Amino acid sequence: MFFEPSIERHKTPERKGQIEVICGSMFSGKTEELIRRLNRAKIARQKVEIFKPSVDKRYHEEDVVSHNETSIRSTPVNFADDILLLSGDCDVVGIDEVQFFDEQIVSVAQKLANKGKRVILAGLDMDFEGMPFEPMPKLMAIAEYVTKVHAICMKCGDLAAFSFRLSDSKQKVMLGEKDAYEARCRKCFYEDKK
Ligand code: ZN
Repeated sequence: MFFEPSIERHKTPERKGQIEVICGSMFSGKTEELIRRLNRAKIARQKVEIFKPSVDKRYHEEDVVSHNETSIRSTPVNFADDILLLSGDCDVVGIDEVQFFDEQIVSVAQKLANKGKRVILAGLDMDFEGMPFEPMPKLMAIAEYVTKVHAICMKCGDLAAFSFRLSDSKQKVMLGEKDAYEARCRKCFYEDKK
């Protein structure tokens, strides 16, 4: 459970925008945490819009689907800039799988927040080599709030922050789930890293 009373905002006439980043490895529950925050805003009758890059076609085209199948309707976009046009008058903008957007997402997040919107971005903070996954580091730097969620190491059971790729592919973006990756702690990640 997360306790972030300062993140939750009240509906006031003059609202200030803010940027929140939810980051972590695969299987860490990033999308579940994003959905949890968005659903609470919805319950408070705030207008919520959710976007994701259209590259992520693993599941239904128009849903942000977390791995435990909690889903929420979302709009797939080709470019980060599309979010500016499509977010309209909403109060809260959720963006999932942020690591698949290019650098443009950074200025898009800034613009939305500066217009008074609450912007919540979820994405992988490290790639399969354990290196920072751009543009997440920049978003983490400009955000008011950063939440790092953890998976459980599939080898030893400790907390895991790394996404270990089981295949030999060196492709940076490789979509695919449980069969292609394991969540690993630092020790188990570097012990087996090729
Ligand atoms: Zn481990």
